Amino acid sequence: MKFTDVIGHETIKAQIRKEILSGNIAHAKMFHGKSGYGTLPLALCFAQFILCEQKTDQDSCGVCPSCKRVQDFNHPDVHYVYPTGRQSQDSSISLIKEWCGQLNTNPYLDLSTWSDIIDSKNIRPIIRAAESDEIIHKLSLKSYEGGPKVLIIWMAETMNSFSSNKLLKIIEEPPRDTYIILVCEDIENVLVTIQSRTQKINVPRISQDDLSSFLMHDFQLSRAEAENAATFSEGDYLVAIDYLNTNEYRSIYRDQFIQMMRLSYKKDVIGMMDWADKMATEPKERQKFYIVYSLHMFRQSIMANYIGPEMMRVSDEEEKFLKNFAPFISGNNIREFQETFDDAHYHIDRNANAKILFTQLCFQTMRYIHVA
Ligand SMILES: [Zn+2]
Repeated sequence: MKFTDVIGHETIKAQIRKEILSGNIAHAKMFHGKSGYGTLPLALCFAQFILCEQKTDQDSCGVCPSCKRVQDFNHPDVHYVYPTGRQSQDSSISLIKEWCGQLNTNPYLDLSTWSDIIDSKNIRPIIRAAESDEIIHKLSLKSYEGGPKVLIIWMAETMNSFSSNKLLKIIEEPPRDTYIILVCEDIENVLVTIQSRTQKINVPRISQDDLSSFLMHDFQLSRAEAENAATFSEGDYLVAIDYLNTNEYRSIYRDQFIQMMRLSYKKDVIGMMDWADKMATEPKERQKFYIVYSLHMFRQSIMANYIGPEMMRVSDEEEKFLKNFAPFISGNNIREFQETFDDAHYHIDRNANAKILFTQLCFQTMRYIHVA
């Protein structure tokens, strides 16, 4: 992947280039941030740039044999480790075809998409301890091409402490000319001893401008459509794509949201439980998107109250609803709404009981909505 193929993040790209060109490179790095911000693509850029035989000071060339191999995911000196299902025969190597296939289609990858691909929907994939032995073995071998070696560990937070501990030493003292790039979403779940041995690079959300110009160009959207998707997604490319793909569902989310807010406002407990029952039957992806949609509506309400309706990014129907609803979201409860819904999103991903989760969410909403 070339730097030009990664959306935004010019400062981080410049930092990577500077390090590699000066030869003063940290041996272990950790890109942390949401998958949709582009953590994995940045790691892939690092590998391609360091190995490119004809790099300029701006980018890898994309055409030399080395770039081609990195782009085809078959460079012998670039290794990948990623979570796999719990079947004991599963390992990064055994799933390499799925991995390369996915990165070829879209290197902006998150764990829930990956779980679907490897058919591990009900069990959270993990990086198994056996991978650590494999890594240590691979990195101890001489590089095939005589140049640097790169190891990318994707979703490093899925390593258990056993595999993390095994890796510590090699992260601390990697073999010569070997670079380890850890990629994670949830840095707090990475062993502290691993964290402290890496150079941490926080990958922030993609800027509104960068994301909307990319969407305009790549999806041939109008400026307004692209800006809407970029605003909705809060700089998360994967959410922006979801937003564009689920256009047809948005009126359903809107109705569900309006219903939830009305029932909670009226303290209609039976209605709330029915609503939660119905939500629990939706597929997990839709449940997650409903949460993202709700967060969007809360933010738009705040926008309407404090900044002015001209800054809102909503449809006409949504605007109509928000006219009456927005006053119920204020500085007194927005933080609670945000934290509670964020939390729900996190737990849906980890297979919480949906019925209980959505019932609780209604009760919490009922409490917060009355303290605006
Ligand atoms: Zn090249």
